[in-house]
Amino acid sequence: MIVGSGFGGLHAARRLKKADVRVTVVDRGTSHLFQPLLYQCATGLLSEGAISSPIRHLLRRQRNAQVVLGEAQGIDPTSRTLAVDRPDGSTMSIDYDHLVVAAGMRTAYHGRDDIARHAPGMKTLDDALAIRRKIIGAFEMAESLPDAAQRRPWLTFAVAGGGPTGVELAGQIRELATLALHHEFRTIDPGEARVLLLHGGDRVLPSFSKVLSRRAQKILDELGVETHLGVHVTDVTGDEVETTAKAEPHEVIRYPARTVLWTTGVEAVPFAKALAGALGVEQDHGGRIPVEADLSVAGHPNIWVVGDMSSRDDLPGVAEVAMQGGRHVGAVIAHLAAGGTDRTPFRYRDLGNAAYIARRHAVVQSGKMNLSGYVGWVAWGVIHIAFLAGIRNRMGTVVNWGATLLTDSRRERAITYGDPETARQPYR
Ligand SMILES: Cc1cc2nc3c(=O)[nH]c(=O)nc-3n(C[C@H](O)[C@H](O)[C@H](O)COP(=O)(O)OP(=O)(O)OC[C@H]3O[C@@H](n4cnc5c(N)ncnc54)[C@H](O)[C@@H]3O)c2cc1C
Repeated sequence: MIVGSGFGGLHAARRLKKADVRVTVVDRGTSHLFQPLLYQCATGLLSEGAISSPIRHLLRRQRNAQVVLGEAQGIDPTSRTLAVDRPDGSTMSIDYDHLVVAAGMRTAYHGRDDIARHAPGMKTLDDALAIRRKIIGAFEMAESLPDAAQRRPWLTFAVAGGGPTGVELAGQIRELATLALHHEFRTIDPGEARVLLLHGGDRVLPSFSKVLSRRAQKILDELGVETHLGVHVTDVTGDEVETTAKAEPHEVIRYPARTVLWTTGVEAVPFAKALAGALGVEQDHGGRIPVEADLSVAGHPNIWVVGDMSSRDDLPGVAEVAMQGGRHVGAVIAHLAAGGTDRTPFRYRDLGNAAYIARRHAVVQSGKMNLSGYVGWVAWGVIHIAFLAGIRNRMGTVVNWGATLLTDSRRERAITYGDPETARQPYR
C-alpha cells in the first residue's frame, strides 16, 4: 500500500514492478504532479496538463499495480488497515502488509488563517491555478480603472519568501508583465508592475552558495524585482501587505498590494498527525515523521515514510531525496517479499540543486560545481525535462518553451472560477 503518488510514491511503486507483490497506490488526486514547474503553470507559461500526468496512465503497464482515488485519513497498525476517505464521502478500509507513506507537505501559515485566506501558497495544482487567477485578474482590473492611484495596488505583486519558489515566481511575474503582456493592454503599461520579493534572510536562495545567491540577486535586480531582505511579512489584508524588519527598531512598512503569494514554509499534510498518533512516534518541528536508517518507522518494520514527510539526518525536502527514498524502500520490500531478510540503510546521493531566475539565467549547484547564466539555464532545462513524467509532457514543454522564447507570448492564461468564495470576483 502506497499513500501518495508524488515523486516518492511513484518511484516506490515502479521499483516493485517485477516483485511478486500487489501494489495499491492511493492519492487524493488523479495525477502525479511535477511541483518544480508549478510556478510556470501559475504564470501562464505551461498548462496544468503539461506538468502533471495521470497516475493510471503512468502505471498502465504495471500489471501488479492498482490505483485508488481517496484521502488516507487513519491507520490501524494492529489490524494492518488503512482508512481512506472517498470522493463520495464514504470511507474505505484497505488491508496492507507493507505501508509506504509518501504524502508530502503543504504550505505552512503557522496558525495565521487570515494570511492563508489572502495569500495562496504554491504546493498543488489548485494553488497554481489560484495564483494564475489572481495575477491575470489583477492586470485585467488595473486596465479598467481610471487613475494611477487606484491601479497601483492591482499592479503590485508581493512574494513572501526568497527561496527557489519565491525567486522563480517573482522573476516570472516580471517576465510575464514586461514580455508576454507588453502589447496586449490599452490603458496600462503592464511593465509598470511592481514585484516585491520579501525575504527574512540576508540573501536570496539561502540553500545555494553565496556566489550563486549574488548572481541570482543581480539578475533579479536587472529584471526589476524589488528585493527586501531581513523582513518578515506580518500581515496580509487583501489590499495591503505589511512587513516588519527583523533588526531594531523593527520598522513596519505597509505596501498596497492586491496580490500576495506565500512561499515561506511548509509543514506535513494532516495525515502525518494521524500516522504519528497511531504509531506512537513524535513528529519533528515541521510535522515530519522520524524514520530509521532503512526509512521504516521505529517499532513498525512494515511501515515506511519517504520523501518530504520523512525526517532523518537533515535530508533536504527535494525531489531527488523522495525519488531515491521511494526506490530504496521499493527495493527492500521486493527483497523481503522474496524471502530475504536484509534491510539495507538508505544512502542519499546528492545530485545538486537548481533554480530558474529568468530566461537565459538559472543557477545550478552540484558538489563544488556552480553554474549560472546561460550555461546554468541550459543545464536547468535539461534536468527539468529529464525528470518530467511522460514523453508527451517533455515534448510539449520543450515546444512551449521554444515558442515562448521566439515570440515572448504565454498562452496558458485561462482562469477558472473554481473557488466559490471568489467565483464572482476572481481577482480579489
Ligand atoms: C513550487 C515547488 C518547486 C520545487 N522545486 C524543486 C526543484 O526545483 N528541485 C527539487 O528537487 N525539488 C523541488 N521541489 C520539492 C519537490 O517537489 C518535493 O521535494 C517532492 O515533490 C517531494 O515528493 P514527495 O513524494 O515526498 O511528495 P509530493 O510530491 O508532494 O507528493 C505527495 C502526494 O501525496 C498526496 N497526498 C497527500 N496527502 C494525502 C492523503 N492523506 N491521502 C492520499 N494522498 C495524499 C498528494 O496529493 C501528492 O500527490 C519543489 C517543490 C515546490 C512546491
